[in-house]
Amino acid sequence: MAHKPLETLSILIPVYNEVDNILPLFERLSAALKKTERPYEVIFIDDGSTDGTLDALIDINRKNQNIKIISFTRNFGQTAALSAGIDSCKGDIIIPMDGDLQNDPEDILLLLQKIEEGYDVVSGWRKDRKDPFLNRRLPSVIANKMISFIGGVHLHDYGCTLKAYRKDILKNIRLYGEMHRFIPIYAKWVGAHVTEVPVKHLARKAGSSKYGIGRVFKVILDLMVVKFLMSYSQKPIYVFGGMGLLMVLGAFISGGYAIYLKLLKGVSFILTPLPLLSVLLLMLGFLSILMGFLAEILTRTYYESQGKPTYHIKETIP
Ligand code: UDP
Ligand code: MG
Repeated sequence: MAHKPLETLSILIPVYNEVDNILPLFERLSAALKKTERPYEVIFIDDGSTDGTLDALIDINRKNQNIKIISFTRNFGQTAALSAGIDSCKGDIIIPMDGDLQNDPEDILLLLQKIEEGYDVVSGWRKDRKDPFLNRRLPSVIANKMISFIGGVHLHDYGCTLKAYRKDILKNIRLYGEMHRFIPIYAKWVGAHVTEVPVKHLARKAGSSKYGIGRVFKVILDLMVVKFLMSYSQKPIYVFGGMGLLMVLGAFISGGYAIYLKLLKGVSFILTPLPLLSVLLLMLGFLSILMGFLAEILTRTYYESQGKPTYHIKETIP
């Protein structure tokens, strides 16, 4: 059997004010990575920390190999930090994780097992999550159900940062807002095989969580954008035009009914709201269709100016 070189790992860790977690995390991570027997790099993305996190990272970097630090000028958020990591990593398998020790580095071995089985995306599932119930676990259960339903990929825990991706899947991906959690949906969309494994989750020992309940709303709005982009980004006229046509149809129905009432029942136009409704729907319908045309022009500019293909090739033979 031909001997394939071992695929390399890139571990991406966004950190924002995690000074007390850095060293213990790094020690446990190194131990786990040794067990994988693969070549690896660890990329810490310092997301504008103000508590000495960067100094702790630089210290680790001096004493160890295969560590890279990307330091942001200010706090840009976890998604941006992950994007920076994805853009600059070199490994064949990309594994993001939290820098607060709530993920157990040992679980990387579980993720890798699934990758070896042939999956392109393996999502961690914090089955026994150690976070407060009311403002964390409950919204998360609901959000995960919604995301699964709308995105068409059934996972229990989109919010778990600990996941593993084959590099090809993340090529060309661009992340905005809170969207790193939707990567499995994007991946599925370009034809990836997606699965999940239960992973451990530990309570935070040092530092504090960077998020509150407000994240829920951002996630819902991002979900709407993702759904729209996923289904219609190449054909926005189907959404805008579809709604426009429905409204024009509504305009004809209510207008027609008003005329029917007037001619056959002798009911004056000003006695029903129907003529007004008809005009309103007609205007909105036309505007919506026109917006669809605009969106079509934008879409063309988007794909063509960047030379982005509208398809994904697996391989070409020969
Ligand atoms: N994080 C970051 N930038 C931010 C917020 C968070 O890099 O603006 C990092 C944070 O340091 C941690 C990870 O993202 O490593 C997850 O954050 P947190 O533990 O606060 O989220 P939670 O576990 O409470 O959902
Ligand atoms: Mg955390």
